[in-house]
Amino acid sequence: MKPTPPPISAAVAAFLDRPGRMLIGDEWIGSDLAGSIEVLDPATGGRIGYAAAGTSEHVDKAVDAARACFESSAWKRTTPSQRTALLWRLSELIEQNGDELAELETLNEGLPINLVKSFIIPGLIETLRYYAGWATRMDGAAKTLSIPDERPDGAFGPAYHAYTRMQPVGVVGAIVPWNNPLIFAVAKFAPAIAAGCTMVLKPADETPFSTLRFAELVLEAGFPAGVLNVVTGRGSVVGAALAAHPGVNKIAFTGSTETGKSIVSAATGNLKRVSLELGGKSPVIVLDDADLKSAIQGVCETIFLNSGQICFAGSRVIAQSGIFEDLMRGVADVARSMKLGHGLLPDTDLGPLISARQQARVCGYIQSGISDGARLLCGGPKPSEQGFFVEPTVMIASDPTIRIVQEEVFGPVLVGTEANTLGEIIRLANDTPYGLAASVWTKDLSIAHGLAAEIDAGTVWVNCHNALDEAMPFGGFKQSGWGREGSQAGVAEFMEEKSVIVRL
Ligand code: NAD
Repeated sequence: MKPTPPPISAAVAAFLDRPGRMLIGDEWIGSDLAGSIEVLDPATGGRIGYAAAGTSEHVDKAVDAARACFESSAWKRTTPSQRTALLWRLSELIEQNGDELAELETLNEGLPINLVKSFIIPGLIETLRYYAGWATRMDGAAKTLSIPDERPDGAFGPAYHAYTRMQPVGVVGAIVPWNNPLIFAVAKFAPAIAAGCTMVLKPADETPFSTLRFAELVLEAGFPAGVLNVVTGRGSVVGAALAAHPGVNKIAFTGSTETGKSIVSAATGNLKRVSLELGGKSPVIVLDDADLKSAIQGVCETIFLNSGQICFAGSRVIAQSGIFEDLMRGVADVARSMKLGHGLLPDTDLGPLISARQQARVCGYIQSGISDGARLLCGGPKPSEQGFFVEPTVMIASDPTIRIVQEEVFGPVLVGTEANTLGEIIRLANDTPYGLAASVWTKDLSIAHGLAAEIDAGTVWVNCHNALDEAMPFGGFKQSGWGREGSQAGVAEFMEEKSVIVRL
């Protein structure tokens, strides 16, 4: 299969032609930077443009711009309802420019454009509007104290008036991965802005473009310069400088567990707040009484969505023996029927992985599974001639300790293991270092609730796997992260709670 690159629109072509740039304050810089980073179309391996290779000096300037804005009356005196209006205006601009953003995201990341248009762009709008609502709702509270009344006359009742204030944490460094770059940028930007913070955002080296277009729309929406700054470049340079920066009050990170750990170490210098959305190896638990057809569809949707490059992808099945073989065979049949291709082509089911490195890594995992004794039902470690595709792969492993069952692959690779008693199922489900998500498929809701309580995961779905809503907190147990995105908890991550106690 050799995907032909489809023609791109004039708007996207013009955007890609702009020289590699970064946004610092109100200035777009970087057009003459040496050592720009080549950005590829992962479906062809061909270059689509260049991104500026930011340095630690750029990070210093961006943090200064974010700090100056945070301290300025233009931002500090913004009322919560003005921030609501700005976030809402931005959501309208995303809606108006949705087709262009979708095309950019597809071209740069590879995922099917229908998925971007039907799921990702509406999701961005929803996130911005949801957090637009929270800007006016992050109230403090009046408190009743137990300190004895010290007034000698006692005439006026309690001698203290006490309350809490919710205040923005300050300058936020946001670092996001290459999978769904816009989703994770907006998932941090919207609550941080609702809270009143300012931000320096670093997109992944591989996928800078949609984030830069988003930054243009932020300015167009009327946000003061410096509220959002974008520094592109290498993680080891720009990301590391941001994580260690003494002028940054909080890092909000989405990416691998390994990088998350290095961010925690770097953040100790000024003990900045850190929230981490990290990797996963989410189990899909299918009991004998589950509806087979729905379970097959659910498993395929979760592991093959965005070619498995989803943190909560259900990458391992744990199923009871009465349904196990039919389920795995059914999933393999769907996998064989999927059409791999360029994301911009309307009939593509499965796009490429992000890079040659990721393709080699995923093929290496499949090979390790085969060498460790797993049975291959379909797919395999066969990299494409052109672009970074890997065929959807389904395997069965009887040994749950092997790497393909234990480690995050981040590709279209499913491994199934049989288990029968509920005790054994719970033990296997919890037997990885991760705890991001899980799903349980059964008609017995008592058992489903029981399993939901026992599984170590930030989200447990029942008879579904990918259902997401901003109203629900999302995050990981164990090595899948710290903190939560989504819901009120997501805004609280960007705020400090202050106690004020007034002696009357
Ligand atoms: P990654 O950790 O390699 O990179 C993520 C970001 O961190 C990139 O912007 C990168 O440039 C930057 N970075 C790299 N080294 C850095 C350093 N030393 N200091 C600071 N920043 C650095 O992750 P990835 O490969 O881009 O993304 C895939 C991973 O992200 C997977 O493990 C996936 O599970 C995880 N992820 C988690 C969630 C979630 O919500 N839990 C969502 C999406 C992806």
